[in-house]
Amino acid sequence: MNGPRCFLLITYNKSNRWSSSSSTDESDEDEYNMATLKDKLITSVAPPSTKPNNKVTVVGVGQVGMAAAISILEKGLCDELALVDVVEDKLKGEMMDLQHGSIFLNVHKIVADKDYSVTAGSKIVVVTAGVRQQEGESRLDLVQRNVNVFKFIIPQVVKHSPDCIILVVSNPVDILTYVTWKLSGLPKHRVIGSGCNLDSARFRFLMAERLGVHPSSCHGWILGEHGDSSVAVWSGVNVAGVALQEINPQMGTDQDPEGWKQVHKQVVDSAYEVIKLKGYTNWAIGLSVADLLETILKNLCRIHPVSTMVKGMYGIENEVFLSLPCVLGSAGLTSVINQKLKDSEVAQLQKSASTLWDVQKDLKDL
Ligand code: NAD
Repeated sequence: MNGPRCFLLITYNKSNRWSSSSSTDESDEDEYNMATLKDKLITSVAPPSTKPNNKVTVVGVGQVGMAAAISILEKGLCDELALVDVVEDKLKGEMMDLQHGSIFLNVHKIVADKDYSVTAGSKIVVVTAGVRQQEGESRLDLVQRNVNVFKFIIPQVVKHSPDCIILVVSNPVDILTYVTWKLSGLPKHRVIGSGCNLDSARFRFLMAERLGVHPSSCHGWILGEHGDSSVAVWSGVNVAGVALQEINPQMGTDQDPEGWKQVHKQVVDSAYEVIKLKGYTNWAIGLSVADLLETILKNLCRIHPVSTMVKGMYGIENEVFLSLPCVLGSAGLTSVINQKLKDSEVAQLQKSASTLWDVQKDLKDL
């Protein structure tokens, strides 16, 4: 039989779809001539996956958002990173700058848009958007301005990633975690505040400075409010299981000749001091956010001092979010460690709770 032979051509076309068509020798040759360099270079075997496995979104590409983003990328925690902000030029610039570093990173895709559809399918959404603390301004003073920002952000986040875990970083973080919980309708174990994770890191660094031991071997927990009324749990401070309060029973009190109480004061003052010096804090919070994400994304079940809903614990009766030692994993915040606190420490925790409730109870439209 003469004439052109006919066969079925199956191609994986530019719009990422498999298609089939009848073809002849001549039309096949035409098609080869028209094929792009990419088509000639690459023989498709199967369509690539377009669905990310570990997508992370960072909302707010300011100092904190970008420090968190680079820390997350450096640790190779996500296969897709989405950035969102309201300032479009800055957003695009940050996205491009990170994309240009792609060969140094193990991430498949970095995307950005002010439209939240870009965040769809995120496993974790880190919220750093909002107005920043000014020099001398307390975190609580920030609250109403940031509540209004969150009323726009949170419904969009949940619409596009209904199964996500939200990690709130913006200040005042404990109140904004409560606001996020209310606005999102998500269960409490999927709304987490970065809380005292940074405060505890600062505490352990300062302890390490005094003892000459690496901070990771200095154990101590700052709990309660991320901010001025936080609680240093002196009874639990230890190195290699040696309780420091057993060596120095006055530790953390005004009678302590070594003045360890000052270390907690330094923690509380840290943010104010750094803001005074450089205008904002970003590196330590960025690193601490990446540490939390590593625990969650790798389901490590590590314990972190993060902000969770504490109603019913330590005699707290209101719906407030405060930091307690919490177990984190891929399901979110799955449990809280019941620390044996001294009466004075419980009283301080309750004081933190009432400080926050005093502000929270007047918030409207949640
Ligand atoms: P920043 O001003 O540099 O960045 C804030 C970003 O949010 C800006 O890029 C701004 O455009 C964006 N933004 C504002 N409204 C938005 C909206 N509706 N949607 C999306 N993006 C929006 O501030 P920063 O220094 O990055 O700080 C961010 C927040 O993090 C502040 O609230 C700050 O107090 C807080 N913070 C928390 C901790 C902590 O330990 N929890 C530590 C440091 C800073």
